Amino acid sequence: MRAILLALLILQSTAPVPDSAAERAFASAVNEDRLRRDVRELVAIGPRMGGTPSGDRASAYLADYFRGLGLPTETFTDPAALAHWEERWRVQLASGEAIESAWPYGFSPSTAGTRRGPLIAVPNLETPVAAWRGAVLYTPAGVGRGYDALARSPFRPIAILTSSPNTPPRYMDWARIGELPARADNDVPVFGVSYLDGRTLASAAGRGDAEVSLAAHAQQGSPRTVVATLPGREPDKYYLVCAHGDSDSGGPGADDNASGVATVMEMARVLAGLTKSGAVPKPRYAIAFAIWGSEYRSTKAYIERQGADLTRLAGVLNFDETGTGAERDAIYFESNDVPWNASLLRTLESVAADYAWQPGFWTEYTTNPSQGGTDSYAFLPRQYKGEGYTTLQIPATTIYTAAWDHLAQVKQTPGWESKGTPTPSVLEIDYSVYYHSAGDTPENTTEREPQNMVKAAKAAGIGLLRLDR
Ligand SMILES: [Zn+2]
Repeated sequence: MRAILLALLILQSTAPVPDSAAERAFASAVNEDRLRRDVRELVAIGPRMGGTPSGDRASAYLADYFRGLGLPTETFTDPAALAHWEERWRVQLASGEAIESAWPYGFSPSTAGTRRGPLIAVPNLETPVAAWRGAVLYTPAGVGRGYDALARSPFRPIAILTSSPNTPPRYMDWARIGELPARADNDVPVFGVSYLDGRTLASAAGRGDAEVSLAAHAQQGSPRTVVATLPGREPDKYYLVCAHGDSDSGGPGADDNASGVATVMEMARVLAGLTKSGAVPKPRYAIAFAIWGSEYRSTKAYIERQGADLTRLAGVLNFDETGTGAERDAIYFESNDVPWNASLLRTLESVAADYAWQPGFWTEYTTNPSQGGTDSYAFLPRQYKGEGYTTLQIPATTIYTAAWDHLAQVKQTPGWESKGTPTPSVLEIDYSVYYHSAGDTPENTTEREPQNMVKAAKAAGIGLLRLDR
């Protein structure tokens, strides 16, 4: 028994042999224009937050899309939680000059119509004074810690405007979007503004009024998760190809994460089409394409819903931020520190190595250790930055081209140093200049670098073809 197990382990950790005709067919069917269009259409729906009207519209759009591919598709209603969405808002100086970059923080309360008060600039929110009562406060500092004390104080302002993190050149022209404590009865609305609008507000402060209006909602809502399935020949296993469908900051979320959703949509389209035409054999194991209604929460709900069926899950390929990259032109495959990810990641790495520098493919690539913060971690234990929702050893990776809002230096897992990166021992993990900001639009991300989504779809699709043998 031991010997057989050992043989199986050896087989598993060896990269499968490629079928180059199927791989070429897959790669040439991935369509950049469709990926771009999918992102634009998703962003046009709204922020797509779980449990909100735009989240519901996005799930209906996705269910239609997958059904249109001929794939059996289900929409699941996940457990309700407090959700927020903002319909319209305006921040302007009394002169009429609009603060165009203003974007409401999540769970900001509505104003009753337009409210007007003296514009006051303060370094931070820590020591409320009588003059703040009824004012519009501008601060370059964050609102996190001071917010509750200020909102409860007798010197409550009518609104707070913040250019936090106020660190040029980041967030120069667009607002970093934050969130207030998740409750329906916050008292003071907060708007993020760009660094430059922060300068405008600082120089206008003390010289007149400002006006704010906001129509916002905070109420219980159920995220909707869409799962479409490409059937396999054998029922005992399946792969999960997934992405979070919400914008997660409450902003436009083109890169984070319409790009990941579009990558899943394109993989489904290409695989459904090629298996139908016979260009690619019907997969051995089914592939479930899932778009989570809400990052983490819907993945947790899925794991709970699957119950014992989760033992059939052969691997998770999650996409988060496949639409941009600020400094490097790299594709990353996450969680090489997880021992049971070895076969999955060695396969993806071999795909990356085989196609590197070929026209229409990538140049720089690497696997990297777990960083946490996206849905593949719903399937991993806490020791690998996972959530511990399951004790099963499910291979789970995230494929991406940017993470967070600054270049991260990450020590590579020993034994995983890649030929595909100039810095194999201390990796440079690329980032998005538009991370969680009002600037995360198609124009700034996926329209500029649509090739990133193409790379992610090709690497994962070819990887799946190799794994599925
Ligand atoms: Zn994300």
